[in-house]
Amino acid sequence: MKRKGILIVVSGFSGAGKGTLVKKLVERYDNYALSISATTRQPRPGEEDGREYFFLKKEQFEQKIAENGLIEYACYCDNYYGTPREYVEQQLSEGRDVILEIEIQGALRIKEQYDDALLLFVMPPSAAELRRRLVGRGTEPEEVIEKRMRRAAEEAQGIGAYEYIVVNDDLETCVGQLHEIILAAHNTPVRNREFIENIRTELEGEK
Ligand code: ADP
Ligand code: 5GP
Repeated sequence: MKRKGILIVVSGFSGAGKGTLVKKLVERYDNYALSISATTRQPRPGEEDGREYFFLKKEQFEQKIAENGLIEYACYCDNYYGTPREYVEQQLSEGRDVILEIEIQGALRIKEQYDDALLLFVMPPSAAELRRRLVGRGTEPEEVIEKRMRRAAEEAQGIGAYEYIVVNDDLETCVGQLHEIILAAHNTPVRNREFIENIRTELEGEK
């Protein structure tokens, strides 16, 4: 039976550790493909175009939307972020699990289009630790940190839409847990419709 790839959405408050976790997951295990998003935000020091994000001007981003080149997009803290369509569709068709590290509005858009998508939410151990990580990362000025903390309080209202939460306390433990959840998710009926349907047909033939 050919393994089917699924879309794995990883969301979480800014600073919870999604980027760090997903990078480790992709390094440690085969069969994951990490989607690179497009954004209109400025690159952080050390970020490269085409590696962390495709950094676009607002007009370029709007052009992508107009061409239906994104499977979802959202506005987050004054910038556009979106998932390019082509890479995702290609990797899924090759049987890979595609990881989208995206915020909650995008996650909901994905679930509407792909009902077998797996929605995971990364939690920090506490709000104080979240703030420590955001400050410690040192990539945003004070007012952006405050904006992201306020956005986290809003996002916390939407966690019920996700299938699993994972608490990113010890990084290594959390990476292992994410992988196990994904393995188990492959065995749910909703993600094996075709296989189940085939067995049903075979059973009918055996009657
Ligand atoms: P996000 O992608 O969710 O915004 P990052 O992956 O950039 O978050 O992580 C935010 C900060 O927290 C980074 O400085 C990162 O090194 C740190 N971090 C991530 N995971 C952990 C962890 N389990 N324990 C302590 N620090 C962590
Ligand atoms: P950051 O600016 O910290 O890299 O990302 C800000 C937020 O945008 C994070 O919650 C991140 O998950 C989300 N994000 C990144 N790429 C995408 C995307 O393609 N679509 C959506 N909807 N959100 C994204």
